[in-house]
Amino acid sequence: MRNFVGQRFAAITLLLAITMGMLNAVGARADQAQITMILATGGTIAGKQAAPGQPGYVSGADSVKSLIEAVPELKDVADVEGKQVSDVGSQNMDAKLWLELLRATSEELARPDVDAVVIAHGTDTLEETAYFLNLTLKSDKPVVVVGAVRPATALSADGPMNIYNATVVATSAAARGRGVLVVMNDEIHYAAEVTKTNTTNPDTMKSPNRGRAGVCDTGECVFFSPTSKRHTTDSAFSIGDEVTSLPYVAIVYAHAGMTAGPIKGALAEGAKGIVVAGVGDGNMSDAALDALTAAAKTGVVVVRSSRVGSGVVRRNIEVDDDTRGFVAAEELNPQKSRILLQLALMTTNEVGTIQDMFHAY
Ligand code: GLU
Repeated sequence: MRNFVGQRFAAITLLLAITMGMLNAVGARADQAQITMILATGGTIAGKQAAPGQPGYVSGADSVKSLIEAVPELKDVADVEGKQVSDVGSQNMDAKLWLELLRATSEELARPDVDAVVIAHGTDTLEETAYFLNLTLKSDKPVVVVGAVRPATALSADGPMNIYNATVVATSAAARGRGVLVVMNDEIHYAAEVTKTNTTNPDTMKSPNRGRAGVCDTGECVFFSPTSKRHTTDSAFSIGDEVTSLPYVAIVYAHAGMTAGPIKGALAEGAKGIVVAGVGDGNMSDAALDALTAAAKTGVVVVRSSRVGSGVVRRNIEVDDDTRGFVAAEELNPQKSRILLQLALMTTNEVGTIQDMFHAY
């Protein structure tokens, strides 16, 4: 009897697993009526060798047309069109380009004949653009940001497979409502989780705290659990047409022997907020703590994040955030903390409200 129950349980579990797998698995699709728009911004994925025989390459030298032509297999997945939004190395991404990209992406998503948007981007700041769009786009349609660490002219370039997988993911029903996704090296990541962890290795994108959103294997992609972080249509942040810039927020990097110098510099430049890439659990020297406590008293919002690369910075552990008037970044790294703080500062500098945002997004 026990055995029978055990077998029956195993059979039901297997059936459930197969059904769930079928629901979440995505591959080349039969229906090609809708368009997947590829928006190119530059980066290595569109990079070319600087000159024959020369080391190095020029980021963003290739057009969106060449990106699409390099992957003829895309036509088996979707009707693909492309537009060039910018052609920068992503170290030169800034608020102005983010706003342009947000508007270009929103425009495409509003088209009834466009199903999904894939954004080709340099990997250096890819996670920042993905997170900014994750908080500001107002659509459930899939948006996938994709990059590559080897230029098109390199041996074993990773761009073509990454673009192919990104398009497979973007055209899948399972990707709807998950917020902005990042696809690279056969992995799918949520914008709030992903970070670049290696300077040049194709396996650079990782989600150190909560793990990957899914995986791709020879053109078949499968999602794991959904994200619990607020995003896109559930995000309270919205950027109207009148917005032309974002509040200035500086990041200061903590280290042994840290002085108040970088904090004074940020304040002198008019920072409305300061994110600390703290040592360990969001810690910093007494000199830095005192300078930031004084800044917080004047209404500058101070967020404690960590330079460590993974883990959570919680309130009131070694630093008394309540007394000092600080915000703890929780799971956000410094570069994403900066974006959330910029958006928050458009409407409030109230520490409790901003702390709640770091919990929710
Ligand atoms: N620095 C360039 C960028 O982020 C190239 C790096 C890359 O794409 O991997 O656009």
